[in-house]
Amino acid sequence: MAGKVWLVGAGPGDVGLMTLKGREVLSRAEVVVYDALVSNSVLGLIPEGTKLIFAGKRSGNHYLKQEETNKVLLEEALNGKRVVRLKGGDPFVFGRGGEELELLVQHGIPFEIVPGVTSAFAVPAYNGIPVTHRDYCSSVHIVTGHRRADHSYDIDFGALARTKGTLVFLMGIAALPDLMGGLLAAGMDPDMPAAVLERGTTARQRRVSATVGTLQGACEKTVVQTPAIIVVGRVCALAETFGWAEKRPLAGVRVLVTRPRERVSTLANMLQDRGAEVLELPAIRTVPVKDMTPVDAAIETLSKGGYHWLAFTSPSGVDIFFDRLIALRDLRALGGARLAAIGQGTQKALLKYGLRADFMPSVYDGETLGRELRSACAPGSRILIPRAAIGDRELIGELEKGNNLAVTDIATYDTEYAASEVIDERGEIERGEIDFAVFTSASTVRGFAAAVSDVDFTRVNAVCIGKQTAAEAQRRGMRTWTAQKATLEALVEAVEEAAEEMRNDE
Ligand code: SAH
Repeated sequence: MAGKVWLVGAGPGDVGLMTLKGREVLSRAEVVVYDALVSNSVLGLIPEGTKLIFAGKRSGNHYLKQEETNKVLLEEALNGKRVVRLKGGDPFVFGRGGEELELLVQHGIPFEIVPGVTSAFAVPAYNGIPVTHRDYCSSVHIVTGHRRADHSYDIDFGALARTKGTLVFLMGIAALPDLMGGLLAAGMDPDMPAAVLERGTTARQRRVSATVGTLQGACEKTVVQTPAIIVVGRVCALAETFGWAEKRPLAGVRVLVTRPRERVSTLANMLQDRGAEVLELPAIRTVPVKDMTPVDAAIETLSKGGYHWLAFTSPSGVDIFFDRLIALRDLRALGGARLAAIGQGTQKALLKYGLRADFMPSVYDGETLGRELRSACAPGSRILIPRAAIGDRELIGELEKGNNLAVTDIATYDTEYAASEVIDERGEIERGEIDFAVFTSASTVRGFAAAVSDVDFTRVNAVCIGKQTAAEAQRRGMRTWTAQKATLEALVEAVEEAAEEMRNDE
């Protein structure tokens, strides 16, 4: 059976501007063919195991010719695959979306279009520029500044100048002098406000505000980073009043978040809320241990009342243990055993099973859990700790220091390190594109370090949830900041403080 092709708009960069439908289709894709304009934050959404094909286009540096891309889409669809053709912005706005459909139509391949948020409108919006405003204009025009080789511009400058509408030029940076010159020659007022908007909706967004007469000169003073659009019109003058993106506390900050792949990232959402651009890198993956015999034996003992306490040190630890428990028996196997959780995330994981922790330490780390649980439980208590195979020793060491406790430490899951298939994290770090890496556990530091192994770690600014995590980062030479408390809120505050410190350093 023939597959199907979805032509999907990825939006202009900010992952939050990808449509719900686009995300849904992407999550079920078998093949993704993507462009250079698709942001890494969006690429981070592609599920593991999806076949990835880069059809990157950057002017002068074509990786796949248009006809080749068309053919790839056809071939994969003929193989019965669910193919997503992922394009920056909207696929039909200077995206050659139409060209890519022709071959599919000829071969009767079914397809759907998922429109995207176009940079032509979103980038001005993120700069506080409304593309229309009743007091200033009554139309908006999207124009390409790209000229086919050996062709002259197919732009009617006279008509554009006469519309008095807002003009948005895509692919226009190389042609900036020609475009402004064309407008001036056609009689446009040289004092008409104009702006170049670079890398809009990302942490690196920047605006050069000037007029049609002075924009070229203003851009010569700095290197214009692409992608960028040019906006011409009276509405450009509103940017200073309505500019909002740069006012968010973490504006301009690009953060790498590592987490176990199975978990949704509350942390990423909290950082995005404050204006950070978040690159999610699922550096570690948790998998149940291959040989479950010891776990099963512990569950058997538990069901016979063999343990007084169960202590959990991570949300994954909770999930993997209870998955097994429920597969073998049901929650009644817990009997009267009491529950300890290292912190709020772990407590939340327990709540999913309708269970509440009887004990949580005052500081959310292994050492404190061990020390405080030791005095909280009755002398001679038997404690079961189902946790990661690489769990650290401090917890057990503390528990064994006294009170005659019998501790059973069993490995329920292994932590695997997985480098991203699509994001070149090493290149990102070396180019200084990552302002901070945020770590919620020592194992995520290890996962990250394994994934980017030979990178110069002194270039990494690590914001860590606690002492042990920070120690792991420091050991590798990273500059570190540590949250006041081991909570996500405190971690986000630490990122804000670190960002502030870096701004002052500059
Ligand atoms: N289909 C895309 C446009 C493709 S043409 C869309 O709807 O947005 C590529 C041009 O889009 C670039 O040359 C640049 O002018 C513009 N562009 C895309 N993303 C941008 C961004 N994040 N910031 C500024 N300009 C962007």
